[in-house]
Amino acid sequence: MIEVRNLVKKYGDHLAVDHLDFKIEAGRIYGFLGPNGAGKSTTMNIMTGYLGATEGEVLIDGHDILREPEEAKRHIGYLPEQPPLYMDMTVREYLEFAAELKGLRKKQRSGEIEEVEKLVKIKDVEHRLIKNLSKGYRQRVGLAQAVLGFPEIIILDEPSVGLDPKQIIEIRELIRKLAKNHTVILSSHILAEVREVCDYIMIISKGKLVASDTPENLERMLGQNNIVEIETKTSPAEVRRILKNVPGIEMIETQPEENGIIKGSIREKKGEDIRESVFRAFASAGIPLLTLKVSGTSLEDVFMELTQRDALPSAFAKNTGWKELIPEEDEAVGTAEDGHAPDDPAEKAEKTDTEDIAETGEEADRDAGDI
Ligand code: ADP
Ligand code: MG
Repeated sequence: MIEVRNLVKKYGDHLAVDHLDFKIEAGRIYGFLGPNGAGKSTTMNIMTGYLGATEGEVLIDGHDILREPEEAKRHIGYLPEQPPLYMDMTVREYLEFAAELKGLRKKQRSGEIEEVEKLVKIKDVEHRLIKNLSKGYRQRVGLAQAVLGFPEIIILDEPSVGLDPKQIIEIRELIRKLAKNHTVILSSHILAEVREVCDYIMIISKGKLVASDTPENLERMLGQNNIVEIETKTSPAEVRRILKNVPGIEMIETQPEENGIIKGSIREKKGEDIRESVFRAFASAGIPLLTLKVSGTSLEDVFMELTQRDALPSAFAKNTGWKELIPEEDEAVGTAEDGHAPDDPAEKAEKTDTEDIAETGEEADRDAGDI
């Protein structure tokens, strides 16, 4: 549905996107995960046709985003990092305007705006000026704009930056709701966020795709040897006998019996998943397993490894074919060779750890209540 081929973006000498290749399939929630400056926004701006690439191409349902922008853009709704909102418009005026830009037929516009307003819960503020809305509500207006026309693909750049915890939960719920009928791609520099909502994660570091898989597989792939914890009603000797012929086991440790229950830790060989065979072995021996769970590396570890170490652990490189990561260096603001469309490039200078910075300047959240 989306195919990104050999995508490169240079800002002057600075390589912001470094030969990205990936495919997006319908019906999933994808997460672009990477530290600030990794190249997420640049990639998204190129994928949505707001920024030209230095090399490579992006195909949306077979249409080249640069050569056939109209056709390609029809499939995409985009919420950029800084939503392109018009502060002096009311919410309704803005959505009417966005609907017109998107080429929605006049007859449908009003009905569809109503539908989207209900979906993102902004109906009650539709006559308020956007400048008087809180960050959370503005973000929803931006989201409404992206969803208008109900395009197949919805791309959201850091949708929860600057929101408070309650708003973050609301936005997540919304994203999940949208994902029922749309393919969603979102970016974040916060692992927990991506882990929470996405079913496929692409880790980007220094403009390179360093890993892409489901959260579970990423954890497993990079994991030191995972440990499978079991609890069962038998003796330690019996545990060993049952597991003797299960392949993929490196080591078994058992604790002394307690109230008739044995706790065991089974260390897997790298890259193995023994859960099913362990289950079957106990089942065929007629011994009940009370617990069977993997305790291994967390995704947090994977993320740190991939984005902060100067090389991939050998096991991971072997598994995936990815070889090398350039050591992390401070995020530099490159030369503003072209605009960071669709709006202000100045954002770059102040964008370090946006996570904690709610808002600055006169547009700060000073409205009463939650609005
Ligand atoms: P992310 O969204 O992952 O934080 P970006 O795509 O915004 O990363 O930025 C990737 C790199 O490109 C960063 O080093 C950033 O400073 C640089 N960059 C982004 N936009 C511009 C621009 N308009 N001019 C020059 N450098 C830019
Ligand atoms: Mg960004």
